[in-house]
This record gives sequence, structure tokens and C-alpha cells, in this order.
Amino acid sequence: MQYEAVIGLEIHAQLLTDTKIFCGCSTKFGSEPNTQTCPVCIGMPGALPVMNSKAIEYVVKTGLAMNCEIPGLSRFARKNYFYPDLPKGYQISQFDLPLCGRGYIDISLNGSHRRIGLTRIHLEEDAGKNIHVDQGNESCVDLNRAGVPLMEIVSEPDIRTPGEAAAFMKKLRSIVRCIGVCDGNMEQGSLRCDANVSVRPEGQEELGVKSEIKNMNSFRFVEKALDYEIRRQIRTLQEGGRVIQETRLWNTERGITESMRSKEEAHDYRYFPDPDLMPVEIDPSWAASIREHIEELPDSRCRRYVAEFGLPEQDAELITAEKSTADWFEQAVALGGDPKTLSNWIRGDLAKYLNEDNMQIGECALTPRHLVDMLVLIKEGTISGKIAKTVFEEMYRTGKDAATVVKEKGLVQISDEAGIEKIVDEVLRKSPDEVARFRGGETKLTGFFVGQVMKETKGRANPKIVNELLRKKL
Ligand code: ADP
Ligand code: ZN
Ligand code: MG
Repeated sequence: MQYEAVIGLEIHAQLLTDTKIFCGCSTKFGSEPNTQTCPVCIGMPGALPVMNSKAIEYVVKTGLAMNCEIPGLSRFARKNYFYPDLPKGYQISQFDLPLCGRGYIDISLNGSHRRIGLTRIHLEEDAGKNIHVDQGNESCVDLNRAGVPLMEIVSEPDIRTPGEAAAFMKKLRSIVRCIGVCDGNMEQGSLRCDANVSVRPEGQEELGVKSEIKNMNSFRFVEKALDYEIRRQIRTLQEGGRVIQETRLWNTERGITESMRSKEEAHDYRYFPDPDLMPVEIDPSWAASIREHIEELPDSRCRRYVAEFGLPEQDAELITAEKSTADWFEQAVALGGDPKTLSNWIRGDLAKYLNEDNMQIGECALTPRHLVDMLVLIKEGTISGKIAKTVFEEMYRTGKDAATVVKEKGLVQISDEAGIEKIVDEVLRKSPDEVARFRGGETKLTGFFVGQVMKETKGRANPKIVNELLRKKL
């Protein structure tokens, strides 16, 4: 029997407000434990929450960017449970009236497109963090994160493969970064994912029993954990067993998911409306003004690059995934660079160096002007495409412009035919065996001869002239 997987994701994203959701404490990451706290966020009795309107604005903005309905009325609820990182004994969250209703995100994977529905987006406060020290003999609580605004984006069970789940998360991250509501930093936990997954016989309508894998903070883990979990569930069914509804944890070291608690042990959160907070009415004119300030989103930018610049869709998707990359690219196009050539350099050498240095495009010394000037030097024949790679790296490392690098390093292309001819003759003279083999039909030896000439000239010989001369002489 063939099985199909059904996946729904719940994504938590920390909002980029300067202060916490119900008090004026800073949300800065990485400070000394418990230095960003006050009576409200450490849950002192009698301390009252005051809503941070920026947090609501950011969730509404996200909802609009993800095609969600924005109901006129929303309210907050207490989600009750006991845990040391939750000083009030309840988390202020939303239950029956979230800020955003149904919406969707479009994803593409290996050239095919799918629309993944969203169930809702709601706003809540983050909890603190338990830190276990002394080999687990002592546990400490850091409440700097308690009260940081968090939005939860819940997808419909529309995702079918681990690859689609990762594509969904990537697109979601790209949108929240583009509109500036979340930094998407998964290592620091600003974006985390709970994955719900079940399997069912292909063709069956009814959903299978799901398990939920908690708190993954990388695309790769989400993909791996889902892959493992789908196999586990199918194996269970094939062996005549049944899948039980439970919460599982991804064990990175062992590469497996492990049971954390079953449905019977699940919490009853006893949600009820928070009496300390007023319901929120979203004024349609406010929503309209938020909508007006939404940056051009990755999808529409991607379509525009295909239509306006003739970029292949795969190129356009990669360039537009990161707003700063797309801005940089457009500046370079405005300076006269050929879009496809620019795209090749951005996705190739530049992406490689930025990745190695763990940097964003705006943080490096290389500017759009540098790259466009270098492309002119290639076009004019001053440098070869191969030498350009050296020039590019030097510009990237030093911030010097292309002409300066070429001059300082003596990289000007040799296009003087007589000079190159001498070197070609020399190379042919030194390799009589290869010449004989070439004439005997081994034409792929051209590459060998070109390589020898390039070696002699340190890569500076004009490849077109080299090839022409070789063809003539061989
Ligand atoms: P719960 O009550 O366990 O929180 P919800 O109905 O709120 O479950 O759904 C939580 C997430 O699980 C959503 O993203 C939803 O799309 C997904 N989901 C629900 N049922 C299934 C299922 N049978 N298989 C896979 N995912 C599911
Ligand atoms: Zn506080
Ligand atoms: Mg739920």
C-alpha cells in the first residue's frame, strides 16, 4: 500500500519590537540573564499588562502580507500551565479570536508551485528560558525573553513532503524579514517550528493520527525530523500497529524523534479571556494604512524580475528571497549591468564568499558599482572572464575598484596576437606527443593546450585568440 504524508506547521516568530509586549523592558538578545525584567514580565502579583501597539501592528502587517482575513475584533486569553520559565502560571495568548484568520503562502519547489493555506496568526508572549548548569544538578531561569512578543503562524494540513515543509518555512522567513517584523534568526531562536505530521493510504480523504515534533530551529532539522517521522509512522502501520497521538522531540545527535508525552498526558490549558486586557478592535482604515506600507513582497518582485529583466524563474527566486540582495541587484541593474550576468555573479562567487564569511550582502566591501565596472572591463576585453574571478575576490576583500585591482595586480588581458602566437608555438613545440594524438583525432586535447598557454601567461591570454590560433596551427 502506498502512503501519503500530511503535514501542518506551527511557526513561532519573535517580533522585532524594541520593547516587550506588556512592559517597557528591552527585547535585546544576549544580555546578562534577568537584566531586562520588571514586575510585569516576572509576574509579580498585581502588576498589570499594557499592550504594545507595535506588536499588534506587526501581526496585522504579517497577516496582510500572507493574504489573511483581518477580523474586526480580537481578544487575548490566558493559557494556564505550570513551568518554571512562566512566572505568572499562565501565558497570555489568543484562543477564539486571533488577530488574523485564513490566508495562504505560495511556495515553489523544483519548478512546481503550490499554495499552502494558513489557518490563523495570533499574538502571544514568549516564556523565559531554563538554563541547566552543574551537569544538570542546578537549573537557573533567565526571564529576559519572558514577555517578548511572539506571533504564531498556523498552517493548514496542506503540506505533503518534508521538502515542501522546508520550502514553506523558507518562504515564510523571507516574507517576515522583507516586511521587517522578525529577523528570522533561527540559531538565536527568533524563528522556531513545531511540525505536525500524519500518514494515510493514498487516495484516502480522512486524515491519519498525527504526531507533533516540537521546537526545531533549522530548515534542515525540520526536513530530517519529518522524513524520519513519516518513515516511522508508515513502518508502524505496515507492521500492523497504530500511530498514537503524541508530542515528540527531535534528537539531533541520534537523528531520530523520541516520544515526549502522549495525548493522555497533554495539558488542559483552561483557556479563558484575559480580564486584564481589553479586546482589540482593528480599525479598517488603520489596517489599510498598514497595507500601504508593506514593502514589495518576494513573490511579486520575483514575477517582476522574470517579466522586466528576463531572468529565469530560479534566478529570480533566489535573488528576491532576501530583500537586501534584491535591492543590491536592482542598484546594479540601474547602473547598467546585464541582469542575467549580475545574477550569475551574485548567486555564484558573491553568495559563496558571503556564506563563508557569514555576512549579509550589505555588510561586505563590494558595491553594485564595483561589479558593474568589472563587467565593463570584461566586455571591453581588458580582462578575461577567468581573471575576473580573481578581480572579483580582491574587490570583495578590499573594497578596491576593478580598474585599481587590475592595475595593481597586472591582470590586464594579453590580446596582442603576435605575443600569444609565440607562446602557442612554444607550447606546441614542447608537447609533440599531444600534438600527434590531437591530429590522430583526440580533439578534446584542445583543453590541454589552452591550459598550457594559460599557465605560461598566468591566465591572462585572451582565450578567444588562443583558441583561434590553436585551431589554425593544429
Ligand atoms: P491541536 O489541537 O493538536 O493543536 P490543531 O487542529 O490545532 O491541533 O492543528 C495544529 C497543526 O496541526 C496545524 O498546523 C494543522 O494543520 C496540523 N494538523 C492537524 N491535524 C493534522 C493531521 N491529522 N495530520 C497532520 N497535520 C495536522
Ligand atoms: Zn518587563
Ligand atoms: Mg492547536
